[in-house]
Amino acid sequence: MSNYKAEYIWVDGTQPTAKLRSKAKVVPMGEEPPIWGFDGSSTNQAPGENSDCVLRPVFTCPDPIREGDHKLVMCEVLLTDMTPHPTNTRAACAAAAEQYADFDMWFGIEQEYTFFNGIRSQPLGWPDNGFPAPQGGYYCGVGSDEVFGRPVVEDHLDACLAAGLQIAGINAEVMPAQWEFQIGPIGSPAVADHLWIARWLLYRIGEKHGVAATLDPKPVRGDWNGAGAHTNFSTRQMREAYDPCVAAAEALAANHHEHIVNYGDGIEMRLTGLHETCSYQEFRYGVSDRGASVRIPWQVARDGKGYIEDRRPNANMDPYKVTELILNTVCEAAS
Ligand code: ADP
Ligand code: MN
Ligand code: MN
Ligand code: MN
Ligand code: MN
Repeated sequence: MSNYKAEYIWVDGTQPTAKLRSKAKVVPMGEEPPIWGFDGSSTNQAPGENSDCVLRPVFTCPDPIREGDHKLVMCEVLLTDMTPHPTNTRAACAAAAEQYADFDMWFGIEQEYTFFNGIRSQPLGWPDNGFPAPQGGYYCGVGSDEVFGRPVVEDHLDACLAAGLQIAGINAEVMPAQWEFQIGPIGSPAVADHLWIARWLLYRIGEKHGVAATLDPKPVRGDWNGAGAHTNFSTRQMREAYDPCVAAAEALAANHHEHIVNYGDGIEMRLTGLHETCSYQEFRYGVSDRGASVRIPWQVARDGKGYIEDRRPNANMDPYKVTELILNTVCEAAS
């Protein structure tokens, strides 16, 4: 009887920003990946004298790295009594999605990130001393003086498609060596499961190229854009009419602080009011406004229905946490 390799992937307990971990299990063909475990004392998830943590598969897809019948297995972390581990943010996210299932909320997350040379000395393609030419020509650029890391980006897009992830597109960003991919539109927690797997694939494919991707929200100080994770969302009501789109923006306004403190470590470094951001100390929404906290896309204003974009989340945010907060804030206000 033959086997397949299942790469179990989970979110660890690193503070203030959790990291991905993974390890492989050999599983007999025809069987689903079973519940498994790991040493939580090595991932900041348990003390040494009581170290066992449980991995429960929540989303499985083809493994585009190993190919064949091999699989990637996104897991949530449980305690040995099978209740959610304190670091498990997926459980509350799934509960919120369940509670507000009638709203049929969809999310589209724009994940920005930055490539560094293997040892994270400087962004990929930047000179050893000094800086590249100022920002202006790099966003959606073409040419070896404009974009850095495209072979990795293309491999990553292919891998996400082969895995069956709901990837919507890619683009080069404003800061050289900075890129973006989008996951969605789909419901949560699926969008977050897909995003965590897509992040894992980015790091894993970076290994092959000797390039490290980082979700650092402000990888270079000074006059260089930070990295965000704009979170677009819609309820069924928003997809049918304009008033619910405005009501959603107002609900976010009323809960600004609670969202900001959960939108990724170092958010005050990125949301300065410059570089296409609104200061973290303010909340503003507006049509087509990329200096606002929340943007209503122009087509949505024209059509009188659609979705809105929460521009505040950092690149290093936890998509379980961010989508849970948006679900709770927007749906509770509309209930
Ligand atoms: P931007 O102009 O801000 O760069 P992008 O094209 O990068 O926008 O991302 C927009 C995202 O919004 C995409 O991931 C897309 O899937 C998502 N999206 C589109 N329609 C909806 C919708 N009705 N609800 C939620 N997300 C949506
Ligand atoms: Mn061991
Ligand atoms: Mn975008
Ligand atoms: Mn972007
Ligand atoms: Mn955007």
